[in-house]
Amino acid sequence: MVIIMLGAPGTGKGTVASILTEKLGVPQVSTGDIFRANIKEGTELGKLAESYMSQGKLVPDDVTIDLVRNRLKEDDVKNGIILDGFPRTVLQAQELDKMLEEQGRKVDLVINLTTPREEIFERLVNRRVCSNSNCKTVYNIVLNPPKVEGICDKCGGELIQRKDDRKETLEARLEDYEKTTSPLVDYYEEKGNLRTEIVSKSANRMGKDVAEDIIKLFN
Ligand code: ADP
Ligand code: ZN
Repeated sequence: MVIIMLGAPGTGKGTVASILTEKLGVPQVSTGDIFRANIKEGTELGKLAESYMSQGKLVPDDVTIDLVRNRLKEDDVKNGIILDGFPRTVLQAQELDKMLEEQGRKVDLVINLTTPREEIFERLVNRRVCSNSNCKTVYNIVLNPPKVEGICDKCGGELIQRKDDRKETLEARLEDYEKTTSPLVDYYEEKGNLRTEIVSKSANRMGKDVAEDIIKLFN
């Protein structure tokens, strides 16, 4: 089972993907998380990715495609994968189709999360994430705050703001989405495996309820 999470930054892709992972038992692979882990470890890939991410720009296709190509060969994703943040360009989508075809599989479901534009901005500037790399729980200091300010409810880790969630880089990211990623909606619509989910403002709807609706699709 290959599931793709599509949607602008701040629509809840990561949140929904992590719930789906738990319920379906299929691993979540987030290219953004992989890049952030590499930045933390100071690898060459991390240095390269940071030079783009810090400006709110996409990491170049060749680098990102190679990364996913290698990840898809690993054992844990043999029976399924939830891709969160990939593909983000039409070229990435075309290459993904080729990679999967070589492995005798295909994209089964594309979930397109949409959120009214004016809410996205608010969500992103208020987003905080757990800095514990085994946890990475996402909070919103307005909609879904932790019990204790700055501390993760689940693991006690420190909550941080992602650098690219600052106002300065948000515009660039949202613009990139419109220009480069949103054409993927047509790409997958033509293939007939797109499901669009309107995500409303409440924190609950952002995660749990949406994931439940999606799970119903598999029953
Ligand atoms: P969000 O969906 O909130 O933007 P992500 O964690 O998915 O967050 O991505 C963070 C950043 O990582 C992106 O802005 C981009 O710079 C980089 N990135 C992640 N996935 C890709 C991709 N598939 N192609 C190019 N760049 C990517
Ligand atoms: Zn945590």
